[in-house]
Amino acid sequence: MNYDIIIIGSGPGGYVAAIRAAQLGLKVAIVERESLGGICLNWGCIPTKALLKSANVFEYITHAADYGIKVQGSEADFGAIIKRSRGVAEGMSKGVQFLMKKNKIDVIMGTGKIKKGGKVDVLGPDGSSKEYSATHTILATGGRSRELPNLKQDGKKIIGYRQAMVLPEQPKSMVVVGSGAIGVEFAYFYNALGTKVTIVEYLDNIVPVEDEDISKQLLRSFKKSGITIMTGTNVESVDTSGTGCKVQVKTAAGTEVIECDIVLSAIGVSPNLENIGLEEVGIQIEKGRVQVDDFYKTNIEGVYAIGDIVKGQALAHVASAEGIICVEKIAGHHPEPLNYNNIPGCTYCSPEIASVGYTEKAAKEAGYEVKIGKFPFSASGKASAAGAKDGFVKVIFDAKYGEFLGAHMIGTNVTEMIAEVVVARKLETTGMDIVKTVHPHPTMSEAIMEAAADAYGEVIHL
Ligand SMILES: Cc1cc2nc3c(=O)[nH]c(=O)nc-3n(C[C@H](O)[C@H](O)[C@H](O)COP(=O)(O)OP(=O)(O)OC[C@H]3O[C@@H](n4cnc5c(N)ncnc54)[C@H](O)[C@@H]3O)c2cc1C
Repeated sequence: MNYDIIIIGSGPGGYVAAIRAAQLGLKVAIVERESLGGICLNWGCIPTKALLKSANVFEYITHAADYGIKVQGSEADFGAIIKRSRGVAEGMSKGVQFLMKKNKIDVIMGTGKIKKGGKVDVLGPDGSSKEYSATHTILATGGRSRELPNLKQDGKKIIGYRQAMVLPEQPKSMVVVGSGAIGVEFAYFYNALGTKVTIVEYLDNIVPVEDEDISKQLLRSFKKSGITIMTGTNVESVDTSGTGCKVQVKTAAGTEVIECDIVLSAIGVSPNLENIGLEEVGIQIEKGRVQVDDFYKTNIEGVYAIGDIVKGQALAHVASAEGIICVEKIAGHHPEPLNYNNIPGCTYCSPEIASVGYTEKAAKEAGYEVKIGKFPFSASGKASAAGAKDGFVKVIFDAKYGEFLGAHMIGTNVTEMIAEVVVARKLETTGMDIVKTVHPHPTMSEAIMEAAADAYGEVIHL
C-alpha cells in the first residue's frame, strides 16, 4: 500500500502530525503498537493529571474547615482513584481513534520498522508481517522510563511511572528518586493520600531545571506538607530481598539506609530507538537522539523524526509543534522553525510550577543585564479569597530594551497563567507593555502585571 506519509508512533507528535498532514490533503497512515495517543494520553500527561486532581480534591476536603465547611469522615479510595485515571486515559485514546477516522487516516496496529527505499514493515499483533510504502516516513516512537544500573526496575518494588499509575494498593511509604516534573508530581500525589514520601535528588536543588527561587519555594511547601527531601544525595543500591526495600543513599554526611515499601525511579525518559530500523537505513544519532534539521529531516531523504526521540524538551506540546512543522514542510509550506526558548514548562504538583524562557541565572550567564520583578500571591486579592496565598510570579526583563526574557511562577493554577507570557514573548512584548496591559480583577493573572510593575519600581499592591 502506498502512502504520502507513514508515521510510526501515535503519541502527541505522531497523531497531531497525521491530522495536520490529512488537513493538507496528504494520504496518511499511522502505525501504533500499543494504544492510540502514546505515552501522553495513556501513561503520561493525562492519567497523571487525573490522579493529581483526585489528590487535590482530597486536600480540599480535608481542609474544608478553612473555608467554613464541615465535612465528616472523608476517605481516599485508592482503587477508585486509579480506576478514574485509567478511565480518563481510555476516553482520550478513543478520542484519538475518532479523530483518525474523521480525518481519513489509516491506523495500522502493530510494531513498525523502517527499511530502505521508503518501505515500512509492520509486525501485527497476530505475528504476521506486512510491508507498506510511503514517500515520507516520520518516526515518532517516543520514550520510556530511564533506568539506572543501580536502580533496575523490577516493576513491583522498584517501579517506573507506568506502575506508579496503577499500583494494586497504596504503599505506606515510598522513596522517589529524581525530582523533575514526574518525580515531584508523584511525590505530591502519594503524600497527599497519606503515603510517607521521601524524595532523593542527586543535584543540590529539587526541580533542578527551574529558577532557583522556584526550587526553594517548592522545597518549603513540600517540607510543610510532610515530604522528606534529600538533595545532593546519591542512591547507591536498593535491597529488595525483605518485605520492603532498603535504599542505601550517600549524602554529604555519609551513608544512610532508608526503608520503604516502594521505590519510584523518576530520573527521566530514554528514547525508543531500538529495533525501528535506524541502523539498517543508516540514520544518524547524536547524543542519544535522532539527528534532524530545523524541519525534522534526518540525514536520509524521506525520513523524519519528531518528539521525544529528537533533541529539545521531552514534552507533549513540543512533540505536537514539531509534527506540525514537519508535515507542513513536507507539503511544501514555509513553516517557521520552532523557538525552543519559548516553550512553556509546567509541573502539576501542588503548588503548581510554570515557566518559560531564561532563568535568572541563565539570563545572566547569557550576558544580559537583567531587571527582575516579583509579586507574591500573599498580596493578591484573588489568591487570598481562594485560600491560595503560597507562591509568587517572578519576571525577568532585559534592562536595556525591556525584552521579556523569562517568567517563573509557583502557586495555584499558574499552569493556566503561563500562556500569557508565551504569547507576550512570541509577540516581542516589552516589560512596560505588560505593566500597561490592564488585567482583570480579581484574578491570579494580575500577579504577572504586578511583577512586571515591580521590575520598573511601579508595583501597586506591595
Ligand atoms: C508520567 C509522565 C507525565 C508527563 N506529563 C507531561 C505533561 O504534563 N505535559 C507534557 O507536555 N508532557 C508530559 N510528559 C511527557 C510527554 O508524555 C511526552 O513528551 C510525549 O508523550 C512525547 O510524545 P511523542 O509523540 O514523542 O511520543 P509518545 O507519546 O511516547 O508516543 C510514542 C508512541 O509510539 C509507539 N511506538 C513506539 N515504537 C513503536 C513501533 N516500533 N511501532 C509502532 N508504534 C511504536 C508507542 O507505543 C507510543 O504509543 C509526561 C511523561 C510522563 C512519563
